Amino acid sequence: MYICNTKHRNVKYYNNFINRHNKFYVKKFTHVAVNARIVLVPHCMRNSSHCLAIEKNGYYICMSCGNCKINYINTLLKKLHYKENSLYILKGSTIIKDIIKKQKPRAIIGIACLQEGYQAFRYFQRHNLVIQFIPLLKDGCSSTDTNLLEVERILQM
Ligand code: SF4
Repeated sequence: MYICNTKHRNVKYYNNFINRHNKFYVKKFTHVAVNARIVLVPHCMRNSSHCLAIEKNGYYICMSCGNCKINYINTLLKKLHYKENSLYILKGSTIIKDIIKKQKPRAIIGIACLQEGYQAFRYFQRHNLVIQFIPLLKDGCSSTDTNLLEVERILQM
């Protein structure tokens, strides 16, 4: 069950939009090599009281301390041979433009709340990027959560 702050009437709309677009992009996504993909996760998934991530301008770099689920994602990326710098823990959305300019990815795997996912889809579409989006199961400003099985399924495609 998705628990979020988004107005209830919008949850259904965002969910439908995202499911429809995930399906639309899935085939293209499978054809993008793992080294041409990047993964964007929100900073609120960190265990902020124990996190050892290094803070950059608009994002964090995970130090794999093992105190949150991002560690599992980071480990999986290494196992699946994603690029070393393919994981970005976003402090906000404004840095996304710079990351895309620098990394020039062909596909984005995004984890975020429904509303941000919806807005990000719009932005990435304008930049001809292939997208797969995984919503947070619980959003808010800290200790948010997502479905790791779903993340793993998409990363492996
Ligand atoms: S695993 Fe990474 S993101 Fe999670 S708390 Fe540790 S350093 Fe921070």
